[in-house]
Amino acid sequence: MTTVLIKNGRITTSSDQFKGDLWIEDDKIVLVGSKIIEKADVIIDATDKWVFPGGIDAHVHMDVPCSDGSLSAGYDTETIAAARGGTTTMLDYVLQEKGQLLQKTITDWKSKAARSSAIDYGFHVIVTEPNETTIRDIEKLAKDGITSFKLFMANDIALRDKDLLRFMEELKRQGCNACIHAENKDMIDYLQEKTILNGNVEPYYHPKSRPAITEAEAIQRALALAELTGCPTLIAHISTEQGRKLVGAAKAKGLEVYGESCPHYLLLTNENYQKDSYESAKFVLSPPLRSEENRQGLWQGVLGTDIDIISSDHNGFSYSTHKQLGRQDYRKIPNGAPGIEHRYMLMYHFCQERGIELSRFVELVATNPAKIFGLYPQKGTLAPGSDADIVIVDPKVEQVISANNQCQKSDYTPYEGFNLMGKVESVLLRGQLIVEKGKFIGQAGMGKFLKRAAKKA
Ligand SMILES: [Zn+2]
Repeated sequence: MTTVLIKNGRITTSSDQFKGDLWIEDDKIVLVGSKIIEKADVIIDATDKWVFPGGIDAHVHMDVPCSDGSLSAGYDTETIAAARGGTTTMLDYVLQEKGQLLQKTITDWKSKAARSSAIDYGFHVIVTEPNETTIRDIEKLAKDGITSFKLFMANDIALRDKDLLRFMEELKRQGCNACIHAENKDMIDYLQEKTILNGNVEPYYHPKSRPAITEAEAIQRALALAELTGCPTLIAHISTEQGRKLVGAAKAKGLEVYGESCPHYLLLTNENYQKDSYESAKFVLSPPLRSEENRQGLWQGVLGTDIDIISSDHNGFSYSTHKQLGRQDYRKIPNGAPGIEHRYMLMYHFCQERGIELSRFVELVATNPAKIFGLYPQKGTLAPGSDADIVIVDPKVEQVISANNQCQKSDYTPYEGFNLMGKVESVLLRGQLIVEKGKFIGQAGMGKFLKRAAKKA
């Protein structure tokens, strides 16, 4: 048995905050208390440091295929980046391969992740084929611990309302969650065609073709479908004030719905889309960055209860390669931006700047994702019996985010030049030290697949 003692830290969970110690045996937390005097194999002095649960990033994309056959960054680099930034668990969106059984896709991804993931992981499945076989497979996957499915209302894998309903009904029956990408496909198609006909092909026109109303309309419809089916539904990456208010209203009605937003919607605005600069392509993601008014309105949802979780929606694209694919047509720019490495500490810093309690920060980046996606209390908290996934933050160390010092494979970060007070010093994954003095010392392949529990009907 290996024992670890973390001493004198400012232990913070979503419900508690106190100065104390953590006693770990092998992969589990055994004791949370104060003045624990035991002889441990490893002793970590956390005096004047924060001790938080490991981050859970519930929305990431690894190895995303681009139109030229290349892939975005994958498990080997991005999970190390995640660990260094305080994230010990991620839920990866796996794309159902056309013409293939869901199980085959999952088996392939599992073996890839088993070889190279440095942190624990689970999968959501992105449904691309809304047929009977796929619907039947939901039950099998749920038994294998894959209990959330992404349904698109926009892009080229959009489902019709009728198909959404069929899926949501089955997901509800199997105790699974629907995660919905809510944007109105027809409105966007219409606006995109107009821009292209007028010769407006620059990335500047990406947000012009996806105004706020295209998100709000789809969220409203998604919530209506959730009401009709009773399916537990997470509205993914909410970017507008109106969107998060709609989710709040649905909650008030008693629906089991959840709101997700991302650091980029809380920290960046549409001023990054410059008409005369192709660098705007770095910020081409869907939904797009919004106005300052929307940004402030989203923070209100973080202060209140409309927003439940903050995920990175990480896509490890590079500007010099992937993002160049849309030089002639902004619609061909791969949508997404890197963020898995910085999500946790961005939220740590900016929650405090806004006067938001650190226990709420923990709830947004770890506890709620664990609760919503069937991982709690194994993950998302610091309690006896929980996995010893622990992040120690030194509040006195300053850091400047830059592509030059990141571990993510991308050649840029949307947060270039952001100044943060506080830095991840150590990270433990199931009791093993994987980051020490800010350096990754774990191993590729040490992450484990997380079999998640379906909700009991
Ligand atoms: Zn996404």
